[in-house]
Amino acid sequence: MLYLNGAFLRAEDAKISALDRGCLFGDGVYEVIPVYNRNPFRLQEHLNRLDASLASIELPNPYPRAEWVRLIGEAIRLQSFDDQSVYLHVTRGNAGERDFPFPVDVPPTVLINPSPLVTPSAAQKAAGVKALSHADFRWLRCDIKSLNLLPTVLMREHAKRAGCTEVVLFRDGWLSEGAASNIFVVKDGVVLTPPKSHLMLPGITYDVVIELARANGVPLEVRAVSEAEVRSADELWMTSSTREVLAIVELDGQPVGDRAVGPVTQRMDAIYQEFKHQVMRAGKE
Ligand code: PMP
Repeated sequence: MLYLNGAFLRAEDAKISALDRGCLFGDGVYEVIPVYNRNPFRLQEHLNRLDASLASIELPNPYPRAEWVRLIGEAIRLQSFDDQSVYLHVTRGNAGERDFPFPVDVPPTVLINPSPLVTPSAAQKAAGVKALSHADFRWLRCDIKSLNLLPTVLMREHAKRAGCTEVVLFRDGWLSEGAASNIFVVKDGVVLTPPKSHLMLPGITYDVVIELARANGVPLEVRAVSEAEVRSADELWMTSSTREVLAIVELDGQPVGDRAVGPVTQRMDAIYQEFKHQVMRAGKE
């Protein structure tokens, strides 16, 4: 079951116009909210980021916050599975013609689309995963969670063909992020990660991990990280709502550290899992 433009429908009955601007131009934004045991994790933060993405593309938010919370709650309730990835999509609607400037008086298209949450397998968590690197050839507004995902599609397809799980992106010799994650580096016991900017998505998991590192006395510097620092890292991990904290043990065929999940990554993952379970048990989020 999903929500489309005011109604809850079976997925096979949910139809969008061929002239929807999301389809023609990728003219829209999205969000992904992880849901554990039917509790959305960091819901307000995800809705804040949706607000920011919509404001950046000058698309008025179609619903007040309370309505989003109600609709997301209903979408979660209607699924047969407890752990979910809830996707929100908002496009600039169907203008009935193919013209770039914004249409006037056209309602946006809103889709709320839960699917089963797929977190890393036990084997991936135990052994870590491989990644490729790539020049970051995306645009200069990577802070917007835009539906224009062609670079991500291409890079992740190439990664998949190479048996890799993620792509680490460098722009002009500096780490930006992963194709669909944020990247953390460990060097000499210190965790390094780039500061938020227009060159990366401000990850909700990135924020949680930084908060938890600080609260638990894990040495951390948020600063520009060079490609050389990534390539000589002792440990490397990615964060995202679905990958959580996942070790990268090989980059471009070269081992990261000793090609095993390192102690800082293990500690950070354990802290993250404990925090997640605590907030979910308390029903605070
Ligand atoms: N960067 C990009 C480009 C992403 O697609 C994602 C996944 N949504 C992230 C970072 C991680 O963000 P979050 O922790 O909010 O899932």
